[in-house]
Amino acid sequence: MPAHQQQLFDTEPAPWEMDDAEQVRIARIVMSSGPAGPFDYLVPDSFADEKNSESFAEAGRRMRVPFGRGNRSVVGYCTEVAVRPSGGRKLKSVAAVIDTAPLLSARMLQLGESIAEYYLAPLGQVLEGILPAGVRGKAGTRETTLFSVLTKVAAKITQIELPEKQKKALQILAASPKPLAMRQLMARAECTSGPINALRKKGLIESHVERIDTDPLFEETVERTQPLSLNGDQAAALKTIELSLDAREPETFLLHGVTGSGKTEVYIQAIEKVVSFGRQAIVLVPEISLTPQTVGRFRERFDHVAVLHSHQSDVERHRQWKRIASGTVQVVVGARSAIFAPTPHLGLVVIDEEHETSFKQSTVPRYHAREVALRRTCEEGVPLVLGSATPSLESWQAAKRGEYRLVSLPKRVSDLPMPAVRAIDLRDESHAKGSRGALSRPMHQAMDAALKEGGQVMLLLNRRGFSTHVQCPKCGFALKCPACDVSMVFHRQANYVACHWCDHHEPPPTHCPDCKDANIRYGGFGTQKLEAEVRARFPKSAVLRMDSDSMRRPGSHEEALDAFRRGDVQILLGTQMIAKGLDFPNVTLVGVVNADTALHWPDFRAAERTFHLVTQVAGRTGRGERGGRVLVQTLSPDHPALVAAMKHDYEAFAAGELPEREMLGYPPFGRLARLVVRGAKDQMTLAFAETIAEAIRDLAATTTETVHVVGPAPCPLAKLRDNYRFHMIVKAPDHATLLKVLTPLAGKLKTPDDVQWILDIDPSDMM
Ligand code: ADP
Ligand code: ZN
Repeated sequence: MPAHQQQLFDTEPAPWEMDDAEQVRIARIVMSSGPAGPFDYLVPDSFADEKNSESFAEAGRRMRVPFGRGNRSVVGYCTEVAVRPSGGRKLKSVAAVIDTAPLLSARMLQLGESIAEYYLAPLGQVLEGILPAGVRGKAGTRETTLFSVLTKVAAKITQIELPEKQKKALQILAASPKPLAMRQLMARAECTSGPINALRKKGLIESHVERIDTDPLFEETVERTQPLSLNGDQAAALKTIELSLDAREPETFLLHGVTGSGKTEVYIQAIEKVVSFGRQAIVLVPEISLTPQTVGRFRERFDHVAVLHSHQSDVERHRQWKRIASGTVQVVVGARSAIFAPTPHLGLVVIDEEHETSFKQSTVPRYHAREVALRRTCEEGVPLVLGSATPSLESWQAAKRGEYRLVSLPKRVSDLPMPAVRAIDLRDESHAKGSRGALSRPMHQAMDAALKEGGQVMLLLNRRGFSTHVQCPKCGFALKCPACDVSMVFHRQANYVACHWCDHHEPPPTHCPDCKDANIRYGGFGTQKLEAEVRARFPKSAVLRMDSDSMRRPGSHEEALDAFRRGDVQILLGTQMIAKGLDFPNVTLVGVVNADTALHWPDFRAAERTFHLVTQVAGRTGRGERGGRVLVQTLSPDHPALVAAMKHDYEAFAAGELPEREMLGYPPFGRLARLVVRGAKDQMTLAFAETIAEAIRDLAATTTETVHVVGPAPCPLAKLRDNYRFHMIVKAPDHATLLKVLTPLAGKLKTPDDVQWILDIDPSDMM
């Protein structure tokens, strides 16, 4: 008997109680918290009647079961119901079936299982993660009693003698094409509930309970546009994808198209084909790109588009989910979690900007939408299109190995040239002359020229706040968050210093808290300081700052972009929020204020991220006839990632970066897992981290493959929210080997009370 089932037994059944041959109906249940299971429960006959569908015990529904010695009532997900020999086990019974219909199809359960296996996450938590809270809670619906007239009564309604009010109510109900709720019937028959209840008592009308929407769905209507006629490269790309659609075979395409090469039009025309087969498509875009403009491009071309994202209310999500499940939706456009959209006949999945880190979830299950999409499309036998101007090296290498098919759009639509990119070497003193701010002289001059010609300017600075550090020049004191090991950032508008990793903020110090010297310095540039500088330098231009501080209010992001698109704003500055997928033909200058911020992160992907960022932001210009240019301020103009980004040369970047990854056994050549251990007590946390590392090393010694365990070492963010943090990186040649050394660990380590640890397969966050 597996260990997990022993917990269900208070005592072993005596041998004479065992009846191996007895066939019973068994539900397999997994839990989303506490011991994960799976646990077997007996299905009582009352839940075994398929005709009684409301309470039929089947896979994909949640059930209430007694758990543990105290028979605590808990809710779990049923993953399987089967008639099997009891094996002599004395099983407890399912107490209630919660969902009146399965929340998860057999396919989604299977997908959940493969995710649980891949990421070493408990299946119950995976399933809970797949289903939005609003779907689980049936948000926006209400159980309502609906009345209808018995058929045999309806046939002889004129012959029945009844008081006036009852007669009227009965006639109105009989004439209604749909069952009516009490309130609806009362209103139409202009009566109280009395006559209706009387009809029910007499057995003339019947009632049943149904879940109905509390508010009707509002679907936006958008003016339709026609397909564009594709250029040669687009047509060839579409043709390749269509061949795979016709063959109904799973195949993964890497659509490598420079910014502005018209990838979206290729997706849309491929989806038009899918829709013509009566199937649905899922399009994933980074959350930040999920703007009305993006969604609008799909609404213009399809009648039924559903949008899924994390800012939706539970009610809205539940409603979209039901629409999708009903099969009426043609295209689902959404962020990461939309990969779980319950499309009944999936025909195609597209992941736009596939290199984006936001496709990786940072909580359990720590899945990457691309990894899930690969599994789902393979299961369902449909193509997957990964699109990017700067593919992840993982996808690029998979294409080189022939696992994905590479499709290229090497030119911008209608042959617009790529913008010229130039570095401004910040080490060069002459550039700084006349400037003590964030903008060098060449940058200022270029902005001036662009604005004079009526162009618009975008400035990227990937740090929010005003001053990014507060330091005392006399004693060296640096102001850090008391709960985290990071510098506090001064926010001038709100007038506080804040930690960007936790909620802590406090009044800005006027003296050094340590030596009391009054000369405490506020240094470093954040977007707020940049904004002040730009306003002072270009008083005649309208300036708009876009970062997560200025864009808190829902809808403010769209308003800001609209203002920029209309030309009400000439200079848009902000964090990477401005770098993503936006299309503004009048932007003739893009400035990267500091390309080095991302370059020096303690992360093996730092160069890749920098390359992505610079290329993406550079792609925002030169989209109109007036062309455009890009200026990049940096202290390391010779860094290969920057040199390649300035030449728009993805292949050169990949060719330079891949050998380094290979040498170090990093992805895409090896696979990583990251374990983070955190706790309030420094030594105890480290000691536990060492225990884990030791256990992994022991397991690694039993494999024939080479497995490296690096660490434990303090995380780059060594302290966060009063917890000390240590991490270790496990490097293996492939995923199977990683699982081999980590599976025996997951869920089985005895963890001290004050310590927590997490396991992240294919980590993206190394902080
Ligand atoms: P990408 O996603 O590759 O950056 P987009 O799909 O945003 O590029 O296309 C850039 C612009 O070119 C959009 O305004 C789009 O409407 C336009 N476009 C795309 N394909 C064509 C085409 N075949 N003919 C004319 N314009 C096109
Ligand atoms: Zn903090």
